[in-house]
Amino acid sequence: MDYCDLAPPHICAIAPYQPGKPISELAREMDLEESDIVKLASNENPLGASPRALAAIENVIMEIARYPDGNAFKLKTVLAQKHGVEMNRIVLGNGSNDVLELAARAFLTPGTSAVYSRHAFAVYPLATQATGARGIEAPAKDYGHDPEALLAAIEADTRMLFVANPNNPTGTLLAPGVLLGLIERVPESVLVVLDEAYTEYLPDELKSDVDAWLQRFPNLIVTRTFSKAYGLAGLRVGYALASPQVADMMSRVRQPFNVGSLAQAAAIAAMEDDAFLDECLEINRQGMEQLIAGFQRLGLDYIPSYGNFVALRVGDAAAVNLSLLRQGVIVRPVANYGLPEYLRISVGLKGENEVFLQALERALRELGK
Ligand SMILES: *Cc1c(COP(=O)(O)O)cnc(C)c1O
Repeated sequence: MDYCDLAPPHICAIAPYQPGKPISELAREMDLEESDIVKLASNENPLGASPRALAAIENVIMEIARYPDGNAFKLKTVLAQKHGVEMNRIVLGNGSNDVLELAARAFLTPGTSAVYSRHAFAVYPLATQATGARGIEAPAKDYGHDPEALLAAIEADTRMLFVANPNNPTGTLLAPGVLLGLIERVPESVLVVLDEAYTEYLPDELKSDVDAWLQRFPNLIVTRTFSKAYGLAGLRVGYALASPQVADMMSRVRQPFNVGSLAQAAAIAAMEDDAFLDECLEINRQGMEQLIAGFQRLGLDYIPSYGNFVALRVGDAAAVNLSLLRQGVIVRPVANYGLPEYLRISVGLKGENEVFLQALERALRELGK
């Protein structure tokens, strides 16, 4: 029996998401010590989580026999204050990936479509396809979102437009004024999902004023995560901000307990630790400079990035990646994003970046570049 035939054709056709290789897996495959491996593959925070978040987890750990607060009252209270919005505009998720899917499940169905950009985050086509809706890929401009192309791609049956700002894996950004101009021109019947997974890394003048935009645009859904700058990727917690009615629709398809108690407590504590966040941003700024200086020394092109990662053009990316893996360095090939000559490198600590740059130089030498 071919069980693919039992699933709907749109499910059968899904090409699964390719995550960064876990350290433990490479250690097994290459017979390496886990402690010798450098992973710069999943845009994780190289400083880890705030000590305050870790302490908050310890405080609630004895409670784990109980279900979490399904409505996450405390976390929503803090988020409502942070964004100056009512609690009924907040939808929490098991990572922001979860809220992206909630949006898709609430509004997409066979016979509708969603628009996203070429080279944009892989979850948009996946979430779209899982609903049976049609995905429409708009061409990119300079590896980033092209507002004109996105608007032109919207069809009569389009219900959703995904925009990652900054985008992953290219690190490109639409400046706030350009983004606002785009949102203003999207028809009200098309939901704009603005994915701001990396917004913390932006200088203030490049941050969009989403709190005000939410009051103006009932079709705007903004998503945020604690996985990147806040260093809580392993806990899985993110959220969406939207109009109360849109938030209500998304909540209808939400699992009642989709954010665990440890995640809720850690997220609250992480938001209280401004000093740690500032330190993370500074380490990222320095690490980005270090990587770019290394790329320039090696004569390699890269896409200037506003996130905690950078797409680097290495030519035969599969071969370079294999050499890096043999040397115990995990980065992310992005051929599946239409970037076969590129590798995406997450910014690490100084020593990790150095190990990567040396391994890269050796890989290129081995390959005669
Ligand atoms: C990492 C990432 C996310 C989601 O991460 P979660 O861990 O699910 O919160 C969402 N969007 C983009 C663009 C990302 O890079």
